[in-house]
Amino acid sequence: MYQSTTTPRGDSSISVIGAGIAGAWQALLFARTGRAVTLHERSDAAMTQSTSYWAGGMLAPYCEAEVSEPVIVRLGLRSLSLWREHFPEIPFNGSLVVAHARDRADFERFARLTSGYRRLDAEGISAIEPSLEGRFREGLFYADEGHVEPRKILPELHARIRAAGGEIEFNSGVEPKDIDGTVIDCRGLAARGAERELRGVKGELILIESDEVELSRPVRLIHPRFPLYVIPRGHNRFMLGATSIESEGSGVSVRSALELLGAAYAVHPAFGEARILEFGSGLRPAYPDNLPRIAVNNDKIAVNGLYRHGFLLAPALAELTLGYVERGTIDNEVMSCA
Ligand SMILES: Cc1cc2nc3c(=O)[nH]c(=O)nc-3n(C[C@H](O)[C@H](O)[C@H](O)COP(=O)(O)OP(=O)(O)OC[C@H]3O[C@@H](n4cnc5c(N)ncnc54)[C@H](O)[C@@H]3O)c2cc1C
Repeated sequence: MYQSTTTPRGDSSISVIGAGIAGAWQALLFARTGRAVTLHERSDAAMTQSTSYWAGGMLAPYCEAEVSEPVIVRLGLRSLSLWREHFPEIPFNGSLVVAHARDRADFERFARLTSGYRRLDAEGISAIEPSLEGRFREGLFYADEGHVEPRKILPELHARIRAAGGEIEFNSGVEPKDIDGTVIDCRGLAARGAERELRGVKGELILIESDEVELSRPVRLIHPRFPLYVIPRGHNRFMLGATSIESEGSGVSVRSALELLGAAYAVHPAFGEARILEFGSGLRPAYPDNLPRIAVNNDKIAVNGLYRHGFLLAPALAELTLGYVERGTIDNEVMSCA
């Protein structure tokens, strides 16, 4: 059994379970208040068992409005501010949405359902993404969006938790009931034993390498079935993502691979010569309504159901949890108290 102090809620030490994007932000914000924070993670620092490891890392609240409830946009905008505040050194270059002429109706529908963009013509597109010169006649530029690289930002978050005085215990699989004091349970899909409604929604991705295309921001290609996108990583690498399939299987199907690679080729034919580095998939933890929940049961707080918005929502959810623990503030849209 892990012991933490049993002083009143406002001063107590905090145990966080799960060092994915949800738990890492919780631990960081609590550690920065000067509290004693211990973050437990069942796997090692590589974090390959987390969904977060496989994510695109897009911070795109405006684009997500196409398919998401207003609460996602509200929390997403707050999160973007927190990302900027805590990581001022990261350039957030916005995101670009493009479509081929045959998908024009879907492109206009996307424009109708979202806001926060500027329309660009072909010249405007090549001004911000020279590699795309002559590729698309029009685009939507969401200048205030951004993206982070999950496999870099997770270790960076962990380092900052430690710098703020928090402790991280890797290879430490624990259950909330095993720990005294305030526990923030961010186990993602692994919490399903206690959270029967949780399900995994499979997302597939492909990592490729090309030195013929340069992009400064994620490019979303309007597609009738999935929001397909190409996200630039460092060192000439690009992530192609992501399918969304009601399945808890693993691996990448041939059909998905064809669609993802086809999208990259449609964004730029030079991707046809790119080298495939990795196929991968992750399971997004989701409730039936696909909305996040902060469930408070005395001193056990569960933060889960981040679905396809973990990177977008984690900072705002951590701020809400902190507000509850410090001041008893309740956000009725995402919090419930037993
Ligand atoms: C292909 C793909 C693309 C995506 N793209 C985006 C995107 O662009 N933008 C975005 O915002 N979101 C995106 N997502 C969604 C995002 O990845 C998830 O919402 C997010 O990773 C969920 O984070 P989490 O911290 O809740 O869960 P996880 O990342 O799974 O973290 C939970 C952690 O808890 C640990 N754990 C479990 N049980 C225990 C235990 N008993 N003790 C200790 N530790 C334990 C696990 O090992 C894991 O590390 C994408 C997802 C996928 C699959």
